[in-house]
Amino acid sequence: MKIHEYQAAELFVRAGLPALSGEVAAELSEAIAIAERIGYPVVLKAQVLVGGRGKAGGIKRVTNPEELRSAFVQLKALKIKDCLVEKILVVRAITIQKEFYVGVAVDAARHDVVLIASAAGGVDIEEIAKTNPQAIRKFYLGGNPQINEGPAWQAFIRSVFDDLAQQRQGTQIFQRLTKIFFDYDCSLAEINPLAVDDQGQLCAADAKINFDDNALFRHPDLHTLRDIRYEEPDEMEAKKYGLSFVRLNGNIGCIVNGAGLAMATMDIINLVGGEPANFLDVGGSSNPEKVIHALRIILYNKNVKAVLINIFGGITRCDDIARGLIEAQRQLKFSVPLVVRLIGTNENEAKVLLNEQRIFTYPTMREAIGQAVELAHR
Ligand code: GDP
Ligand code: MN
Repeated sequence: MKIHEYQAAELFVRAGLPALSGEVAAELSEAIAIAERIGYPVVLKAQVLVGGRGKAGGIKRVTNPEELRSAFVQLKALKIKDCLVEKILVVRAITIQKEFYVGVAVDAARHDVVLIASAAGGVDIEEIAKTNPQAIRKFYLGGNPQINEGPAWQAFIRSVFDDLAQQRQGTQIFQRLTKIFFDYDCSLAEINPLAVDDQGQLCAADAKINFDDNALFRHPDLHTLRDIRYEEPDEMEAKKYGLSFVRLNGNIGCIVNGAGLAMATMDIINLVGGEPANFLDVGGSSNPEKVIHALRIILYNKNVKAVLINIFGGITRCDDIARGLIEAQRQLKFSVPLVVRLIGTNENEAKVLLNEQRIFTYPTMREAIGQAVELAHR
């Protein structure tokens, strides 16, 4: 789950991080009132859950109410990567001398949490990583939830920040950012830019936090921060019906029982030259209802050219799955072909039911997947 800059900045302030003071406004009159309170100049910042607002014209510095008015109207009319601007953050403007990048993220490949810093902050960090990878410094926590301030840390922080005062402040900022990261089960906590103002002080001129969706149940207080306009509607829908669903980029929809079989199915699809449109585990003891929801959710995705159903019936009864598929076909009236392979409990009953509806089954996983990939390539 992503949250807006103003929400992340609020968590930053609570954690003692030097975020710029500001408030969010939906209406021009509110924005003017906030600017009066803070004092001009102020910066207006479009609140959308996508990056690159600066480049898209979503950040505007204004020095008086007239300028604020026109900037506010411009920002409200803006569409940043298809996202409409509803709220605008009004913050005290600072004179920026230099921009750093600091972030705490999960490094999945190393099974570790990584602290990242760069003296070339401000812009796209992904871009710097490509064009100037030496400018990005990394410190791995090595499984600790805290920074061990030994020599490795000192070397890291010195390689990024210029003087002793900044190095001290930088260390404190990283400590607090790391605490937020663990306290809230984040997948990313990032400040870009961490700006040096004209007093030489470091301050967070942007705030970004992503939470690990799988740990959200541990933080009921975060639910109010959710902006559902930015959520994948199919993933939300799947959650409602107890289906494990992840949307992917391919065109073969998958309904599988068991996470292991679902992963193996996706692997084989890839192996024979296809691409799965989703991961979906209908779970054990699938009732026909679940299958209907699964199909409906998969078919939201207009890229889907074929749906592969791969069921290994243990607790799951194949005839339940078959009834679900037949009912789904009746209710949803779709033209995307179904490719079915099911074996195990009540397999023969299932095949009879499906054949009556002219849905044919494949005896092996390999054959079914081959057929699905072929249909998807047509
Ligand atoms: P992003 O493009 O979505 O990451 O938005 P940011 O909040 O990072 O803002 C983009 C750029 O706007 C920053 O890198 C700064 O250069 C500039 N900016 C943001 N806030 C201020 C501010 O208070 N004063 C000044 N002078 N520039 C700012
Ligand atoms: Mn930024």
